[in-house]
Amino acid sequence: MPILRIAVAKPLRTTFDYLPPLDCDDASIAKLQPGTRIEVPFGRAQLVGILVNRAPESEVNQTKLKRATRIIDPISLLPKPLFELCLWASQYYAHPIGEVLTLAFPPLLRKGVETNAPHNAIKLTPEGRLAPQGILRSPKQAALIERLQRHEATRSALKAEGFSSSIIKALIDKGLAIPCRIEDSEFSPSESDPQPRLNSQQQFAVAQLSQHAGFKASLLYGITGSGKTEVYLQTIANTIASGAQAMVLVPEIALTPQTAARFQGRFGACVGVLHSGLTETQRAREWERARTGKLQVLLGTRSALFTPFQNLGLIVVDEEHDSAYKQQDGFRYHARDLAVKRAQIEQCPIILGSATPSLETISNVNIGRFEQYTLNTRAKAASLPSWQIIDVRQQSLEAGLSQTLIDACHHTLGKGEQALLFLNRRGFAHTLLCHDCGWVAECDNCDSRMVIHKRHNRLRCHHCQAQKPLPKTCPSCHSNHWQGVGYGTERAELALQSLFPHTPIHRIDSDTVGSASQLDHVLDAINANQTGCLILGTQMLAKGHDLAKVTLVGIVDTDALLFSSDFRAEERLGQLLTQVSGRSGRGDRPGTVMLQTHHPDAEIFHQVIHQDYRETASSLLHARHQTGLPPFGQIVMVHADSKDPSEAERFLNSARHTLTSSLPQNHVLIGPLPAPLSKRAGKFRYQLTWLAPHEKNLHRFVHSIADTLTRLPHKSELSWAIDIDPHDF
Ligand code: ADP
Ligand code: ZN
Ligand code: ZN
Repeated sequence: MPILRIAVAKPLRTTFDYLPPLDCDDASIAKLQPGTRIEVPFGRAQLVGILVNRAPESEVNQTKLKRATRIIDPISLLPKPLFELCLWASQYYAHPIGEVLTLAFPPLLRKGVETNAPHNAIKLTPEGRLAPQGILRSPKQAALIERLQRHEATRSALKAEGFSSSIIKALIDKGLAIPCRIEDSEFSPSESDPQPRLNSQQQFAVAQLSQHAGFKASLLYGITGSGKTEVYLQTIANTIASGAQAMVLVPEIALTPQTAARFQGRFGACVGVLHSGLTETQRAREWERARTGKLQVLLGTRSALFTPFQNLGLIVVDEEHDSAYKQQDGFRYHARDLAVKRAQIEQCPIILGSATPSLETISNVNIGRFEQYTLNTRAKAASLPSWQIIDVRQQSLEAGLSQTLIDACHHTLGKGEQALLFLNRRGFAHTLLCHDCGWVAECDNCDSRMVIHKRHNRLRCHHCQAQKPLPKTCPSCHSNHWQGVGYGTERAELALQSLFPHTPIHRIDSDTVGSASQLDHVLDAINANQTGCLILGTQMLAKGHDLAKVTLVGIVDTDALLFSSDFRAEERLGQLLTQVSGRSGRGDRPGTVMLQTHHPDAEIFHQVIHQDYRETASSLLHARHQTGLPPFGQIVMVHADSKDPSEAERFLNSARHTLTSSLPQNHVLIGPLPAPLSKRAGKFRYQLTWLAPHEKNLHRFVHSIADTLTRLPHKSELSWAIDIDPHDF
């Protein structure tokens, strides 16, 4: 009797054996492919499981085996390469296979919904088609009937034409229309946008990148505004012309309607977009279009990496250095790294693009594993900005700004140009301090201070959900002499309003711009501005937005990054400064960058200013080499969180004890140490860090760690996780 090995979406590192459903004959079982969804009883529930493989027999006694309930998919919906990628990722990241495989399905299908595009469209019923004019009192409903007389239409197309879901629902409720399926929306692409003539570096890159058949990883190393996106677009055009599909990954915040419109303007309706703002139905639909080859380009954020394609011919990872590609909880994968693996399995080329590539990628170029193409002039003939460091020691600051920077803003605005101020802290002030006794408002659940949000009159913790009203008097001395220490964007905005009373100020941070479309809205307003304005924002601003009229960038305060314990802090600072400064002078006028600091002599500032990022990167790489840190060594981190203050440390200590005996001599264990934020959301957090030289079979050790941890006794409230190639260290 053949056995089905099935993975379920539970945090369990094994598959489960089931007998086939009763109504299945041997022939149909023999045809089942890995990746097929199968409904199975699990505990007292019915779950959607995924077939991993078949086996002639089970190690479990036949009489104890349960029977699978039904086979959901007649054929597997996961193409072989994608299934293989999931298995590989589950191994590499030591993450439960069921949770990884589940990611390859859209939420609707995880619940066992059959495929075939969901009912995404509306058509008239026979009654609706015959409905005499004027039977509806609502003019909107009548207009919708008239609209549908011509042709059935997708819900999204109807929404775009101004028919709300309640109008649609009203017709359905009256029996005049019914949901139906149509594969593609009918909006036909308008004339596609013209392709600009490429400069010679772009031309060379497109020609070379379009030549690759089979796996080839390339870095497209182009300064900000050098026309990388144009290179992607024209390379993708060649991919499509050869009959294959392309997948483009961007960081969450870069996926604005502007970006999508640029791709849709070029390729029309065959572009699909996947991001967290979609409904489940929309998601399932884009997924199905990619799987069945009905779309040619898929643009998406991190998790879009797991979308099935019929014929994937190219992968692009834009802003490849961006840490948004690293998932920080649950299945802690790195989408850029997995994208390279996927290209290898699919045997297709992959382009990683950035103005400030990660040290990992630069190192891969250095050792010849990746090809490199360079764009070192700006596409629109603008030059790179000039820099000025402002030493703010002992200067009096207004709104966190030195007089020099304020004067420069006035000067810029006087010319009708735009100034951008970069402040990487949202909220009003980052600390509420009692001026009389020194009491400071701290979060009850975390080892951190609460941030003042003035507009809502609340204190908020940026590390957990905690918030409370601003206290009237000091809990310690009952004084009401409050002081807000430090500047967040909210406070800076208020102060700027009084410094520049006649200037429009656009604030961009996650409190003012909650969604991609809101961001798009603000960016449109900025680009439409003719008379000069101030733009104030957090690192949301650093991400590739094209702001043609900005000629001054003021970097208000990045000193905190000089003292971070994270070994990637300097790399991040270098990337951040280069990216933010790249917002200046993108139009036809030259730009200036002013950097305020209390540490004007810090080496990293001078590296960024006087050399190009390439040299900064190579000196940082040199330091990593000396210390054996990534990319020259590998880090595996074990996190443990517990409400009991000593349990997490105790657990990791016994993990360390067990592991020490089995590790090779040149591996190092550090800790357990408290995490940088040692208490968060009421849990005490510890970490055990494991530093290893690069080796092929590292995952063998990782799996023995996972096994060890699984068997170690601990209180049930303690949770642990393994993070391979962690990003916060
Ligand atoms: P990046 O992705 O490197 O930041 P983009 O591709 O967004 O650069 O290009 C920056 C600007 O220059 C865009 O407005 C783009 O339309 C324009 N551009 C890019 N390549 C060319 C070209 N060859 N000729 C004219 N304009 C170009
Ligand atoms: Zn006090
Ligand atoms: Zn908190």
